[in-house]
Amino acid sequence: MTAYAMSIDLDLCLGCQACIVACATENEVADEHYRLRLVTTVSGAFPDLATELRMEQCFHCADAPCLDVCPTGATYKTDDGIVTVDRAKCIGCKACMAACPYGQRFIGEEGWVDKCTFCEHRVAQSRVPACVETCPTSARAFGDLDDPLSDVRRALDAAGGASVLNPGAGTRPRVMYLNAGRSSELETPEEVF
Ligand code: SF4
Ligand code: SF4
Ligand code: SF4
Repeated sequence: MTAYAMSIDLDLCLGCQACIVACATENEVADEHYRLRLVTTVSGAFPDLATELRMEQCFHCADAPCLDVCPTGATYKTDDGIVTVDRAKCIGCKACMAACPYGQRFIGEEGWVDKCTFCEHRVAQSRVPACVETCPTSARAFGDLDDPLSDVRRALDAAGGASVLNPGAGTRPRVMYLNAGRSSELETPEEVF
């Protein structure tokens, strides 16, 4: 079975935010909202400081707590592992926003909840998400975790492991970070997927 996932290589990410713009344009994201965000973390003690850049979005968790709390079934997971929202069914109750341990959901003026969908409309056409296509350094890789020849699988194998945000939440995120050794917030559990 297909299990879509994404990796973001922190050694390659420039923090240019081109992916944020590509996502907002591709998905016509509501004004003043973005599905992706740049997180900057400064670690160490002066003068030995390090700045870490990390792009965040919905992690399409394998065990997503946002799913179970939705009273209408508006939030659901596709057979390919994409966690998405049916706008027609969303009543704007915000239960899913409260359940997401990563704060990756928002609600626009239209009254339905929004977040990254892995550009499922593009994936259905065998295209990669807009953020992946636009990234100037190929920091992002996308594909089927179960396919050893997929871009994401090859990126993970080449990096020799991956890190995720807050693995203690037990959500098993499907957006994983590569080369996160300098980050103070990412963790590398023994098993991430
Ligand atoms: Fe990083 Fe690529 Fe996004 Fe630029 S487009 S911020 S390099 S992931
Ligand atoms: Fe749900 Fe949040 Fe995980 Fe996305 S990151 S699947 S919104 S719990
Ligand atoms: Fe479901 Fe919408 Fe309520 Fe979220 S805001 S739990 S998607 S009905």
